[in-house]
Amino acid sequence: MKIAMFGGTFDPFHAGHAALAQYILDKGIVDRVLFVPAPVPPHKTREILPYADRRAMVEAGIRGMANAEISDIECEREGKSYSIDTLRALAERYPGDEICLLIGGDSLATLHLWFKAHEIVQEFTVLSYPRPESVVSAEILHGNWSVAETEKLLAGYMAEAPVFPVSSTQLRTLLKNGVLPGEDLIPAPVLNEIQKKNYYRN
Ligand code: ATP
Repeated sequence: MKIAMFGGTFDPFHAGHAALAQYILDKGIVDRVLFVPAPVPPHKTREILPYADRRAMVEAGIRGMANAEISDIECEREGKSYSIDTLRALAERYPGDEICLLIGGDSLATLHLWFKAHEIVQEFTVLSYPRPESVVSAEILHGNWSVAETEKLLAGYMAEAPVFPVSSTQLRTLLKNGVLPGEDLIPAPVLNEIQKKNYYRN
């Protein structure tokens, strides 16, 4: 079985996250999607909702989505979570399954800077998809990766995947300004959760 690790802050979970997961499941690109909320993302400096709240939003967002679930694997571990550690831990937890790292084209462009980047690419399948303004090509990848690694990364690039024009940042801004985003931007159960708890208002 092929399992995608879909990591993120999910502050909040939005329709783009849901649509991408549904796309790769519907296309049979993977058999299962594991949403892995990050406990304290090292690169984010703004205030972030606590793990439990973000997790609850992911849960609400994927309710009813077959073959999608949440993994608390990064929260269970002490200290910083590097993707290579999460991927290896998942590989141990799901022996016999193929664990894939799912990232946007924007992240693919900087993947070579990630901790133990070459080990990630050598040990795991990296599935990537177009994001606005991200350009992915053999020439660009060749600058940072070996020929074999470039081939592997290009094989995992889903150029045909649709681009979903929504981000958590955009949603936080709308909600802060009292604007209720539609279902094209956020799944209704996630919006209910946000309204119930009054997130993102201050
Ligand atoms: P923020 O705006 O706070 O940076 P975000 O919308 O990018 O958040 P994250 O939780 O940081 O959401 O993203 C988790 C993963 O989902 C990342 O790999 C990111 O590239 C991807 N992602 C975010 N928005 C979309 C989208 N509209 N379509 C597809 N993937 C997305």
